[in-house]
Amino acid sequence: MDDLSRRAMLALSAVGGAALASSGAGAASFGNPDEPPQGAINSTPAALADPGPQNPALAGQLPSFQSPPATDVGSMPMLWSSFNIMPKRIQAGGWGRQVTIAEFPAAKEVSGVDMRLGPGGIRELHWHLANEWGLVTSGRCRVTLLDQEGRAYVQDVGPGELWFFPAGCPHALQGLGPEGCEFLLVFDDAHQSEFSTLLLTDWIAHTPPEILAQNFGVPADTFKTIPLHDLWIFQGKEAGPLAQAQAAVASGGTPPQPFTFSLVGTKPVKENEAGTIHLADSRNFKASTTIAAALETIKPGALRRLHWHPNADEWQYWMKGRGRMTVFDAGPRATTFDFGPGDVGVAPRNQGHYILNTGDEDLVVLVIFKAPEYQEVDLSNWLTHTPPELVAQHLNIDPAIIARFPKDKVGIQPA
Ligand code: MN
Ligand code: MN
Repeated sequence: MDDLSRRAMLALSAVGGAALASSGAGAASFGNPDEPPQGAINSTPAALADPGPQNPALAGQLPSFQSPPATDVGSMPMLWSSFNIMPKRIQAGGWGRQVTIAEFPAAKEVSGVDMRLGPGGIRELHWHLANEWGLVTSGRCRVTLLDQEGRAYVQDVGPGELWFFPAGCPHALQGLGPEGCEFLLVFDDAHQSEFSTLLLTDWIAHTPPEILAQNFGVPADTFKTIPLHDLWIFQGKEAGPLAQAQAAVASGGTPPQPFTFSLVGTKPVKENEAGTIHLADSRNFKASTTIAAALETIKPGALRRLHWHPNADEWQYWMKGRGRMTVFDAGPRATTFDFGPGDVGVAPRNQGHYILNTGDEDLVVLVIFKAPEYQEVDLSNWLTHTPPELVAQHLNIDPAIIARFPKDKVGIQPA
């Protein structure tokens, strides 16, 4: 078989996996181009059988693990995780679940929290060591914050809108009626746990009453009915009008920059028949000094082109649809991962990757970077901005064909 038909076999095996493993005589010679050969194309039906314990519901979520493309090679760290496999901490008023570095060692730069607050549900007044970035995924939420200069900020946010709370600035969140809300939190410290934050009720309960009395200039028995255990999330009364809450805190002054921002309200940085990309970083969302985010919508069969990010790991929250990503590293190493709603992924800094929509509906992925600005190097943009003869000698491709490659910096290719 010549080179072309060998590549065709590889392409076919990537689609059909094990089913094609023994389709050709001498298939073993058409395995992975790297040594040692890897992939089902090298094997036989008997050797490929999997007679051991099966959990099809779980295994079926990750078909590329069951039958990797023949181009996968070597071993990568586990770059897949999911909120779906994390325990919920449920309390009156709402719940939360999280993926920190303890649950997902590959996520070294940020941790993530999926939280639900029912109508009137309150995430207790608190603060913590990491910066907090949030995205509302459902319903409406009221955010309340005091900034570093003692100025208060109160705002209501809905789906596709963000917040950024600087480290150490105390804040609370409340679900608004009638739906309540759900949101993603991202901390710019992979160790930050939402279950271990500095809580108002804990501090008050663990300060001597006479100190509280002196501190606030009131009798000690003012504090006789404080909760003895923290609230974390609790059922509160439904919030009053926003303007009333804003007026109640206005005496301390107003922060010069908003701590909330509409990601879906931005003009897309990329929009074509294959999808859209919205971007929010410190250039348009000034408050977000340490987190850059892109919301990518990829149409069925479309491909988020091969690229990498030079300034940070990519942390992914897969929100809708189904998709596949292969991550490439030196070695060579390449591993393919499948994702669905609620899953979390990582594409480490400078490691090449693509995302393919493998489902029949729009694929929506939020990608997060611990960086002030979004940065990307696109493979096609690189190869079309390198002297054609230089590229041609590497890939044995006619320079006239290379000239037809896409030339933009950020790309989604249609099916
Ligand atoms: Mn917080
Ligand atoms: Mn990326």
